[in-house]
Amino acid sequence: MYDSFEKLKADCMKCEKCGLCKTRTNLVFGVGNENAEVMFVGEGPGRNEDLQGEPFVGKGGQLLDKYLEYIDLDRHKNIYIANMVKCRPPENRDPSEEEQDCCIGWLREQTRLIRPKIIVCLGRISAKRLIGRDFLVTKEHGVFKEKGGILFMGTYHPAALLRNPNNKAPALEDFISLREKIWEVCDHTYDVHR
Ligand code: SF4
Repeated sequence: MYDSFEKLKADCMKCEKCGLCKTRTNLVFGVGNENAEVMFVGEGPGRNEDLQGEPFVGKGGQLLDKYLEYIDLDRHKNIYIANMVKCRPPENRDPSEEEQDCCIGWLREQTRLIRPKIIVCLGRISAKRLIGRDFLVTKEHGVFKEKGGILFMGTYHPAALLRNPNNKAPALEDFISLREKIWEVCDHTYDVHR
C-alpha cells in the first residue's frame, strides 16, 4: 500500500508485471487531479495514448473532452482519468483477463489514494470489471450503483461512439445525469467554476 501518489506513479512507471510491457512505447498512468471526487476509467491505451503517455488523446479523447466540457469537467482540473491496463494491448485488442488481473492493483491504489465519490466506467471492459460481470452498456448505461461507498456508473466508450454515432445522444444524457449526481454528492468538484 502506498502513502503517496508520486511513489505509486514512480513504481508503476517501471512495471513489467505482464507481457504488455514489452510492446509499449509509454506507460499511461493517468491524468488529472489527484484530489478529484470523480474518476473515469477506460479500458487501455490506444496508439495515440501509447505514443503520448496520456489517456484518451486521440479522436475518442477529443469527443470525451467535449462531453466533459459540456458538464463543466476538465481532465486537468476537477477529475482524474485512468485505464484498466496501463500499457497498450497490441492492435488495440481488448486487454485479456490475465492482463487486467496483473494491472488492477495499480488502479486499486490510485482509487484508494484519490478516494473518489463517483467512478464512471467508459465502456464495457471497465464496467464489467468494476460494476458487474453481467453489465450491459446498452441497457445499464447511466445507472448509478453504490459499491463500497463509491457510486459507479457505466457509459459508452468514446471510441464506440465514433463507430456508432446513434449512441451519442444517450451518452450525452449519461453525462447530464452525472452532472446532477455531482451536484448531489460532491463537495468541491464544481468549485473551480464558481
Ligand atoms: S499493463 Fe499494467 S501490469 Fe502490465 S506491464 Fe503495464 S502496468 Fe504492468
